[in-house]
Order: sequence, then C-alpha cells, then structure tokens
Amino acid sequence: MKKAKYLLSIVLVFTVLFSTVACSNTPETKTGTATAQGFGGPITVTVTVTDGVLTDVKVEGPSESAGIGSIAVEQLPAKMLEAKSVDVDVISGATISSKAILAAAAEAYANAMGEEVGAEVKMAPGTYTNEVWAFSPNVKMEVAVTVSEDKILSIEVGKNGETEPILQNAIDLYIPRILENQSIAVDAITGATGSSGGIRLGVMKALEQALEAAESDPAAITAFQKPIPKVSGKTETLNYDVVVVGMGGSGSAAAMSAAEAQVAAGQEVSVLAIEKAGKYGGTSAVTSEMMAINPPRFMKDNNYEVRKIQLGVFERPLEDTRKDKSVYVDVEEMKSAWLEYTEGDAKEEMLDLMLNHSGETLDWLVYEHGFTFGKPQLGVEPSATYFCVYQYNDSFMDNKHIIITYFDTLYDHFTKLGGQYMLETEAYELLYDKDTKTVTGVKAVGADGTEYIINAKAVILATGGFCGNGEMTSELLSDEYYPLKGTWNMVGMTQNDGKMIASALDIGAGTYNIGMAPIVHIGGSRVLLHDFETYTVEIDGETKTVALNDVPMIMSISGNVMTVNKEGKRFTAETGLGFLEPWKGGPEFYSIWSDDQIQKVREEGFATVTVGAFINQGGVPTGYPIKELDEVINVAMEKGICYKADTLEELAAELGIDADNFLQTVETYNGYCAEGVDADFGKAADFLIPIKEGPYYAFVGAPYAYSTCGGLDINTKFQVLRPDGQTPINGLYSCGTDCLGVLLSEKKAYVTYGGAAQGWAYTSGKLAGESAVKNMVK
Ligand SMILES: Cc1cc2nc3c(=O)[nH]c(=O)nc-3n(C[C@H](O)[C@H](O)[C@H](O)COP(=O)(O)OP(=O)(O)OC[C@H]3O[C@@H](n4cnc5c(N)ncnc54)[C@H](O)[C@@H]3O)c2cc1C
Repeated sequence: MKKAKYLLSIVLVFTVLFSTVACSNTPETKTGTATAQGFGGPITVTVTVTDGVLTDVKVEGPSESAGIGSIAVEQLPAKMLEAKSVDVDVISGATISSKAILAAAAEAYANAMGEEVGAEVKMAPGTYTNEVWAFSPNVKMEVAVTVSEDKILSIEVGKNGETEPILQNAIDLYIPRILENQSIAVDAITGATGSSGGIRLGVMKALEQALEAAESDPAAITAFQKPIPKVSGKTETLNYDVVVVGMGGSGSAAAMSAAEAQVAAGQEVSVLAIEKAGKYGGTSAVTSEMMAINPPRFMKDNNYEVRKIQLGVFERPLEDTRKDKSVYVDVEEMKSAWLEYTEGDAKEEMLDLMLNHSGETLDWLVYEHGFTFGKPQLGVEPSATYFCVYQYNDSFMDNKHIIITYFDTLYDHFTKLGGQYMLETEAYELLYDKDTKTVTGVKAVGADGTEYIINAKAVILATGGFCGNGEMTSELLSDEYYPLKGTWNMVGMTQNDGKMIASALDIGAGTYNIGMAPIVHIGGSRVLLHDFETYTVEIDGETKTVALNDVPMIMSISGNVMTVNKEGKRFTAETGLGFLEPWKGGPEFYSIWSDDQIQKVREEGFATVTVGAFINQGGVPTGYPIKELDEVINVAMEKGICYKADTLEELAAELGIDADNFLQTVETYNGYCAEGVDADFGKAADFLIPIKEGPYYAFVGAPYAYSTCGGLDINTKFQVLRPDGQTPINGLYSCGTDCLGVLLSEKKAYVTYGGAAQGWAYTSGKLAGESAVKNMVK
C-alpha cells in the first residue's frame, strides 16, 4: 500500500513537472480542414492538433439523415478525441457518412501537419458486385462496378426496389457524372438522392474491395472522394413572359396551359419552366390517383359501370349504390359535405373551382395530352363516398413507370408549342420591385453553379410545399389543434423545401391554413433500421419472413400499447397509428411498453403486427418469439428510437415529455384497461393491455408525410394575396400544394376524399397558367 502511494506521488510530480514544462512554451496549434461527400451532401471536418496531439474535431454535415448519418456526425468527433486519432471504427448503420467523415478527417489532419495526402491508387481490376440499401426501405439495390488498376470503368444497377423513373434519373445523370469525374463526391441528383446514395455506396464498397484485393492502402480511396468544384462567377439573364417554378403536376399543368393560352391569344409562346430535380414529375409522378368531378368527355365515352377492385392492403370491393347513375358525383351534396367537414374554413369560391373544373382538367390531360386513367373509384378512406378518384393507368401501385411517360408527352407538346424548360435549376428568391410592389422574376442557380436572373411578367410558384424543411415546419405549422411543430419524416419529396414560399413570405405574401397538418396516411418508426439481415422461418408448413429491422416500427405503431405525444397525452386509439391517424401525434410520438410486454414479445412474439405500408421490410409473423429482441433494442437505443428507464418518471425525463401529464395518462389508461372501455378514443377492448412494472421502454414513432398542405393565400385568379386576404401581389401566382390550404381547415386532416391533392395540383395548375396569361394580355 505504502509503495503504491509512493509510486503515485512520483507520477504526480512528474506530471506536474511535465505540464509545467509544456506550459512554459506557447503550445503549437495547427488546424486543417477537408470536405468529403457524405450520404446527404458534403461533410466538412476541421481538426485541431496541439503539440502534435489531436485536441479538437468539428464535423459539419447538415444534410445527413436524422438518426442515421447524423449519429456519425455527432459521435465520431468524440471517438476520435478519445482515441487521439482520426483512424477510428465507423458507426454501424451509418457507413457512408462515417467513411466520408473519416476520409475528410484524415485529409484535414494531413493538411494540419503539412503532410502529403493519399496513398497510391492500385486496384485489382475486375467487376465487384454488392447489395446496398438505397431509397427503398425493403429491397436492397445491386450495384456492379468494373474497375481497372486506377479507374472506375462502369457502374451497373441490377435488381432493386427503387421507384422506377427516379432510379432511371440517377442512372442517366449520376452514373455518368461519377465516371466523368472519377469521384463519388459529385452531387447526388436532386429528386433521386436515395437512389444516388445507393449507387454511391455500391461504388464505394467496390473500390474498397478492389483496393483490398490488390493489397493497397485503404486510404487510397480518398482519391475518389474529391468534391467537384462548382463553376462560379457565371451569371445569365433570361427574359420570359411566364416563369413556372417547379415541374411537378401543378407546375407542368401551369406551364402547358400558359403556353396554350398564349397560342390561343395569338402571342408567341414565352414560357419557361424550371425544376431543381434532374427530371420533371415531382411528387406527382409517384402518385396513384387524381380526383376529378364528372369529367364530361370521359363520362360520355365510358359507360357508368364502376368495376370492383381488390388491392393488396386496401380492399375496395365497390358496390355502385348511386340512385342517379347519369353522373358520377352529386356536386352539391359533395360540396356541402366538404364545407361541413372543413367547418367553414375552406374558401368556398376555391372549392367551386375545384368541383367545377377538375372534370375538364382530367379530360384535358386524357384527350389533349395522352394521359390514361381508369374509371372512377372511391378513395381508400372509410368516409370516401364519392366516385371521383381516377387511377393513373387504371392501376393503384404498378403505374410509376407509366406516369413519367405522360409527363414526357406533356413536355413534348409543351416544347413543340415553343415552351422551354431547365432541369437541375433551383429558384431561390423572387425578384421584387418594391416601388411598384411587383414580382418581376426569380433568381435561380444551375447544377454547375451558374446563376440565372430570370425576368418575367408572371411567376407561378408550384414547388410542392415546405415539408422538406424542418425549420419551416417547426416555425409555420401550428400547435393550436394538434402538436404539429417540428421536423416531419417524409415519404414524399424532401427537396420540396419551401424556399420560394419563404421568399414570397419575405415580400409580404399572406397565408391560408399554413399551420395545418401535413398530408399523412401511414405511420412507422422515426428511423428505419437497416442493421439486420431478413430471414425466413417455417411456421405451420408456411414460409414466413422475419425482418428484425421492422421490429421498432411494429413496436412504435402497435395497437396493443399506449402511445403519447410530446405533451405526454394520448391522441388517438393506437390501432390507427399504422394508417390514417398517426399525424395527430405530431412529428413524433412514443409507444410505451412495460417489462412484462417486452418479455412476452421475446418469449411468445407479437399478438398483432401493424406495419406501415411502403416502409416495411417484410414484418414479423405473429406468435413468433423474437429471441433477438435485446439486440434489436440495443441498436434502436443507439439510433435514438428506443428509450429505457426503471420508472415512468425517469422515462418521461428521458423523452423530455411532461411527467405529470404522462403519469396521469398511464393511470387513466390502466383504468380503461381494467374496465375494458376506452372512454377517450374507443379503442377495442382486445387492445387494452395495462402498463405494469418497469423497466419501461418507449419506442419513437412518426407519421410519414407526403407534403405539407397549407401554404400561400390565393384568389380565384390564382394570384398570391397579401395578408389582408384581398390585395393581390402583382406578378405572383401559385398552384398545387403551395396553396392547397385554401380548400381545407387547420382543425382537420387533409380531406378524406382520396385524390384531392393531385386533383388540385392539375386543376389549379391549369387554371393558374391560363390566368397568368390572361392577366398579362390585359
Ligand atoms: C407516395 C405518395 C403518394 C401519393 N398519392 C397520392 C394520391 O394517390 N392521390 C393524391 O391526390 N395525392 C397523392 N399524393 C400527394 C400528391 O402527389 C401531391 O399532392 C401532388 O403531387 C403535389 O403536386 P405539386 O405540383 O404541388 O408538387 P410536386 O409534384 O412535388 O412538384 C413540385 C416540384 O417543385 C420542385 N421544386 C421545389 N422547390 C423548387 C425550387 N426552389 N426551384 C425549382 N424547383 C423546385 C420539386 O423538385 C418538384 O418537382 C401522394 C404523395 C406521395 C408522396
């Protein structure tokens, strides 16, 4: 014991002496910075080296996915500092982001130390094939990469579960860009970032394998991770009568109808459409159906029999019980039901436009521009009672590769009339003349960095809302009726980031129901796992899939447990969390499991399994014990989608929710379970299972939104209005999701009549294009 103390004091003296010596000189501090391409965008790493020791690491990767790449951004700096080295292990499940951070950190460190970066590139020539996760949450993408000793020669995508036209876009644009620049750090294609990310991951894995096969230094991969500098300093000025921003459903309809209106008015066509993605179509090209009310030509050409339809998850055997079969929809009846549903909030004059012009819009698409729709259906929601929903190509799911060809035809017609368009061109600001209070065009930037000043007499905003922008949804969505503020998970286009809506607000545009809930049908886990391989088991002679990645999803939207919002309160019967109801909890909610329930899943499996359509990787059979549950829970905890605590109070603290409300909610819920009656939300007694002893677990669930719903205020000419709701802003128009709120209410979900969003997109687009030209002619 004495000896140990003596040793300790020597060490202390030595340390003090050593630090005194070190402190007597000014420490030598060097910093280095480098950038590499992560999953979502560039990641910049800055390292500080003090007296040869790594003392600080800063990582900036704002575009990495929340709960996946963001974890690498948060955790790797600490790991590097702990190891005093930039050479640490990747964070599992966030491979691309981790490797980009490690590559950038290695380069930053070398820069700081004034060392040469990069080992010699020498690969074993051949073809390397890998299966990687891309956009599809349920099917991996096969990527085959052929390399020579020092070059990527070709990239082929094999089997995959991507949305066809979107993947095609990445194949057409992204692969050539990688090959041309010999870099996987080229920008992903906007609108196809998921598929681009999969291709990048496949190429990265192949390069690693090819370097390893040649026994080369793995660090040589940094030669293929150099960001490509953008052309700067080039500005072009363009002049048009009409510029349409966004080439999804509404913008494409607006551009086409504006061009047609110019032809009809005897003018030379001067319409430019711009689109930030690599391909036109937007969300509209991945949609199933549009609403149209009694399309006259289509009705005349078709008999009124409504066919029966069976669809995977949604079963719709339709019986045509209408009394008057000479029309599909009784417009007056539908209108009063709509106004009643929206509690007087919808603008009646805008609803009239939708009801009276959506039919002719469908006819226009079909007879003038070659779209194909099936016969009218009811929407999927239980309350959808009007035959007004038309499926593209007469198919609910298998139509994406067809819809894009309709857009090809539309743009063929548009350009033949003299219309022009520019892809990969993002508008970021309105040009506004303060003296005349007139919008005079837009500023935009091209993929190569070229700046465009586009002067126009009319600007039509058709940018698909602002759901892709967490700051805007946190600021502009309202907590008045539901706790909606925050960043929303999306199945829609994350590039719809509201930049131009923000610019319109900056120049004094008014809004209408901008605070209302986004469009949502399905719910799931806040973060989808990709950490476990799916396997199959034989149960009663049947082969069933076990997708452990789906377990947190099943646990976050299970009807069997109690679920609360950020206020610690229940918000729905939990049986609706998988479909239709999850939005009521806001951008995330928490499903609470007590220890006995967890043990039951481990030993007996799930009693019921709820899966979110589109986002499940195969689910797990009911009654199949999940022996790997602890492993899954550990991964879920690492990803921030599962929390565990011994007491309910501690769990509330971990989640950051109101503990008093939460405890009260549990007590009330347990009372309902004892009585077998859910007095708040009417959940069926079979699903009322009490919360017993701890430890307790909370699984973080989330609605998956298509887009926001509310937005700019407009009048019947589709002019954007000032906050007084009366005064139009000269030169500024809007259509589609950017102004869908005029048909709706902040108190309610997006209307339950399926197809309304898409019906509005085309109808409002067509009318806005005509109106912009008509106003200009005067
Ligand atoms: C999976 C899914 C299924 C759906 N199914 C249905 C359905 O069956 N029925 C239905 O009615 N609705 C459905 N919807 C909703 C419907 O698709 C949308 O409401 C509709 O497509 C919106 O059309 P839009 O023109 O407003 O937006 P979009 O079609 O998204 O077009 C907006 C375009 O603007 C571009 N853009 C954005 N910002 C800029 C900028 N600053 N500069 C340049 N371009 C920009 C975007 O890249 C995009 O291409 C679905 C949505 C999703 C995600």
